[in-house]
Amino acid sequence: MKYWLLVVFSWMLLIGYAECCQMDPLLGPDVFSYKHFYMNKSNNGLGYCERRMKITSLDRWRLSLDVFIDMFPIDPIRENYVRRVRHCIFSAVYPTPFKSRVRLVAFSQEVLENILDLHSSVAETDDFLQIVSGGRTVPGSLPLAHRYGGHQFGIWAGQLGDGRAHLIGAYTNRYGDRWELQLKGSGKTPYSRNGDGRAVLRSSVREFLCSEAVHYLGIPTSRAASLVVSDDEVWRDQFYNGNPKKERGAVVLRVAKSWFRIGSLEILAVSQELDLLRKLLDFVIQEYFPSVDVSDSYGYLDFFSRVVSQTANLMALWMSVGFAHGVCNTDNFSLLSITIDYGPFGFMESYDPDFVPNISDDEGRYKIGNQASIGMFNLKKLLQVLNPLLNSREKQLALQILDGYPDLYYNRFAELFRAKLGLLGDSEDDVSLITFFLKLMEDTKADFTMTFRQLSEITQDQLMNLHIPQEFWALQDIAVHTFFSDWVTMYILRLQKNASDSDTERRRRMTRVNPRYVLRNWMAESAVRKAEMNDFSEVRFLQQVLQRPFQVQKKAEEAGFSLQPPSWARNLKVSCSS
Ligand code: AMP
Ligand code: MG
Repeated sequence: MKYWLLVVFSWMLLIGYAECCQMDPLLGPDVFSYKHFYMNKSNNGLGYCERRMKITSLDRWRLSLDVFIDMFPIDPIRENYVRRVRHCIFSAVYPTPFKSRVRLVAFSQEVLENILDLHSSVAETDDFLQIVSGGRTVPGSLPLAHRYGGHQFGIWAGQLGDGRAHLIGAYTNRYGDRWELQLKGSGKTPYSRNGDGRAVLRSSVREFLCSEAVHYLGIPTSRAASLVVSDDEVWRDQFYNGNPKKERGAVVLRVAKSWFRIGSLEILAVSQELDLLRKLLDFVIQEYFPSVDVSDSYGYLDFFSRVVSQTANLMALWMSVGFAHGVCNTDNFSLLSITIDYGPFGFMESYDPDFVPNISDDEGRYKIGNQASIGMFNLKKLLQVLNPLLNSREKQLALQILDGYPDLYYNRFAELFRAKLGLLGDSEDDVSLITFFLKLMEDTKADFTMTFRQLSEITQDQLMNLHIPQEFWALQDIAVHTFFSDWVTMYILRLQKNASDSDTERRRRMTRVNPRYVLRNWMAESAVRKAEMNDFSEVRFLQQVLQRPFQVQKKAEEAGFSLQPPSWARNLKVSCSS
């Protein structure tokens, strides 16, 4: 009994508490023709029946940031030097082209075709390379760097902003969806502080691969369209140990529905620019939360409650795949609750709630088991921003909304993990079953991803007889636990409550939510090492594999992606240096 209480209590502490939001449906891989695109301009100027077209020449492809330029004051200073910027949301600034040769080394066909309406042959053109490397801007588009602030590791850090990123335009695609395109690593801006405005190849490969992988895991995230490498020297002290090394500059073209962060609003509240704060807030609500009526007296509360619920959803989704973001500062938390700003992230391997992916995070503030409560911290900071715009009654209600966050998290967490265990419906003891299983994993350090996956693949008979074949290595690890057979008994009893189910169905269901492949640190590291030697084949291979994380793939198996991490990777470290 004591053991049970301990299990449940430790997990209550660990997981804090979320709810679901609707995910964007994945867009299907359509083939369409350019001609049709321009002939049919009904809905949003782009009729639905032209799902079959792609643009083959960048001459006809237009980006625009007019919405921002018309709506907000732009920094009147146009020179590009580091400074404190006030009374605006953006500074107009051009990317700095690389001095050396640039090469496109990877791109996402799906992003090009289904988000940007571009035929993938466009990626072979010099125009494309110029645009995605920051060498040239798209005609008619004025690049912008965004001014934002943020709480870093719990402390207000003042002005941060796009110090090495340029918003090069927004594109409204054939579905009528508006996407913002941002280069990362494209040179200095007024927000560069002491930085050089660049991103190195290693961190760019990681962001390129991981943001796409997270998307294919079904988690809201920014996407990566392309990866360019230069020969420009960029110096980094990767482990902050006095050993700077020469690396190469790279640029990722990232796309998201919006790049606004909690920190976008924070800087305006802190510097008392309340008119501008209200303006940005109203814009964000109208543009990205269309069902919220901003003119309604409870409009801001409605907005806040959605951010609370979507943050809870995102934190639970991260947990469900063992993803630790690494730097959950308010400037890295999207107002749309999508995963952004990939840095020292990590997928947990052996199961450990104290898993900290970032070696620079000495106190483990952003350990995986803390993410849910950090979500709460960040939402509190958002509420502080909203407070000057709320009356006393609304402030009270906002606190009540915030108080609901733990339950939202907890419910969503339970829903996701119930699905991971193949449970149908909702039974009283489900949370105990889940937490018990996680506790066994914690005690045995069983691999998080593969334990769930192998539980999805093993038959109920094999499990019941504790007959675990050798290839189910992660299950073998957890099975050494004294209480494993007790858990199996409970689990099988619970499975019997699944109405009109079969074991085949259970396994089919579970393999659709328990990935076989995630971007393990050693896989990213191996791709980075080759990329640094100018071999990008592994980057592209991983990109392909991680597009279908739930499907067994022969080549991925041969590469060992569903095996224990190789011994050379045991002490791999990732830091903030990027
Ligand atoms: P990050 O840790 O990447 O989320 O960045 C935190 C802040 O530091 C943001 O304002 C970045 O734009 C800025 N920053 C990070 N690296 C650089 C760099 N190499 N040059 C200029 N600014 C940077
Ligand atoms: Mg950031």
